[in-house]
Amino acid sequence: MDLANYTDLHSKMDELIAMAKRCFDGGLQTNAGGNLSVRLDARDAIVIKPSGVGFNECTRKNLQVVHLDGAILSSAEGLKPSKDLDFHRDLYRIRDDINAIVHCHSPWATGYASAGIEIPCLTVQTIEKIGRMPLIPLSAEGGPQTEVDISPFFKDPTIRAAVLANHGTIGAGPTLMAAQYLAEIIEETAHIAYVRDTLMAAHGKTAADLPQYGTAADARAANA
Ligand SMILES: [Zn+2]
Repeated sequence: MDLANYTDLHSKMDELIAMAKRCFDGGLQTNAGGNLSVRLDARDAIVIKPSGVGFNECTRKNLQVVHLDGAILSSAEGLKPSKDLDFHRDLYRIRDDINAIVHCHSPWATGYASAGIEIPCLTVQTIEKIGRMPLIPLSAEGGPQTEVDISPFFKDPTIRAAVLANHGTIGAGPTLMAAQYLAEIIEETAHIAYVRDTLMAAHGKTAADLPQYGTAADARAANA
């Protein structure tokens, strides 16, 4: 498809650049790791950050346009697609409601992911907005997760956030802002969980001392 047919291309690129800067400024992603993407209105192609470019260095010139079939429609010379391009493409293919993905290596959440602990949805906001963020194990080869490992979790239409073992986080939403909020809530929740667990240990409290909250889905099921 001719790039000129993607009439929202520049506005989506600008939105992605602003969101990438927000991630950097918020400490969710420094260096050149992580990646983020947004689906174009035509629905068959995305804008994505390439490999080796930092969130704070994204520009209209270095962002790539990729068809969901994998064809690179536009790329600056010398830039390679992100290693995670295939899992982004697959999530857009399997979920019509996903139009943006923010994948960060944010430190508090990745700490949990590296300890092999699923981040508990312990605040009222997290219970309502996320429900559950599964911890997705490393690939069968022991390397970074691919679409083979990630997509099965997102086939559940209620899943919008996940954490990748020894790797990072995924927030996937209907808009870039929604995906960004998820990336921020995941990190905030991991930080809160760490403080809670540290305080509980210091004060000799156990899980039995905590109030028990169900998820919004639990409450709906109970009231059904
Ligand atoms: Zn990554």
